[in-house]
Amino acid sequence: MTKTALWNRAYAKIFERYGNEPDLTIVNRFLSEKQAFGQFDCITYFDIIAKLREEIREKGEIFIGKSVLGSCFTAYLLGATDENPLPLHTYCPNCKKAAFVAFCTQPDVTEMPYDLVGKPCEECGEETYYDGFDVPFETYLPYVKKGVEFHHGNYRELYDEIRSHMTPSLCELAEKCKEMERRTGVSMDRIYLGDRDVLSHFCKGDFVGFRSDEAKTLNQMAALAKPKTYGDVLKLLCLGNGTQTWKRNAEELLTARKCTLADLPATRDEVYMEIRNRLKFNRQYETGFAYEVANRARQGYYFEHGMDGYTADTLRGLGYDEWYIGYLLRVRYLSPKALSVEGLKYHIILAWYGLNFPEEYRRMEEPLE
Ligand SMILES: [Zn+2]
Repeated sequence: MTKTALWNRAYAKIFERYGNEPDLTIVNRFLSEKQAFGQFDCITYFDIIAKLREEIREKGEIFIGKSVLGSCFTAYLLGATDENPLPLHTYCPNCKKAAFVAFCTQPDVTEMPYDLVGKPCEECGEETYYDGFDVPFETYLPYVKKGVEFHHGNYRELYDEIRSHMTPSLCELAEKCKEMERRTGVSMDRIYLGDRDVLSHFCKGDFVGFRSDEAKTLNQMAALAKPKTYGDVLKLLCLGNGTQTWKRNAEELLTARKCTLADLPATRDEVYMEIRNRLKFNRQYETGFAYEVANRARQGYYFEHGMDGYTADTLRGLGYDEWYIGYLLRVRYLSPKALSVEGLKYHIILAWYGLNFPEEYRRMEEPLE
């Protein structure tokens, strides 16, 4: 299929999924991506990934794509990822209406779809559910520009090549979930990702299903940050993935009570979105400044070179406190949000297996004799 045909197909998918009158937020997002990515080959890549996923799923295996794909709504529409990057919204599977949520329901916590239970739809009474992990496409741009270099060889070569672009830790995690599925006979698709039991274990610092070194670090992080929601847990995963985001940084800020976990931008995406929103509030509709700050922070540029006075003053002018500027100055690497969103999903699944099938879980984790 030509690139134009693929873009047209993705556009048609909007109406299939969201009905004849989709919210402008949805169409706007798609058109922005089309303008930003249209000249590159990424839509062909999404299409191939989607086909591979489908084939592999039919074989009963699991396919982890490059996990930053979850920042691209077009990739979601074509089926290249399951993570919907739109802002938080409710979705009615019957009348296909998406209603966007303006604010969180609880103060001082971060909420994500797994934390919220949909109400019956106002139009038809069907149960709605929450979706949308709120990931901007702009942070995917560096990947698109770099280009995905794979050659169109046979299926196996292509599969291996795409696998080589994946995140190893995430593959390992997904394989374990698949293994538990085989051992228990409970399909992972049936596991409720909003499981309260798993959440309460994570919140009290029991990170069942994590590697022991990760679990230990997260336990210490949770003792200080006191997560209450899956959104909070996601923040901890992101902070743990970055370099010098937690140690000698967020940890000190939280200890000194300079900010709360909810205040902390844990990913490059959050830095970008937050500054972008403040700019908009100040009637600055261009996003270049937000992108520049997020991009420099994620690369550790400010750590290496410091922050110029103009940038720091602009951030102050947007209402940022000194702790925030200090935080960006110490960060050496900020992970992409989409990576941790996908990681959290598999961690919830594995923890659920671990809690509900402790015997099978223990046997899986035992080293072979
Ligand atoms: Zn409905």
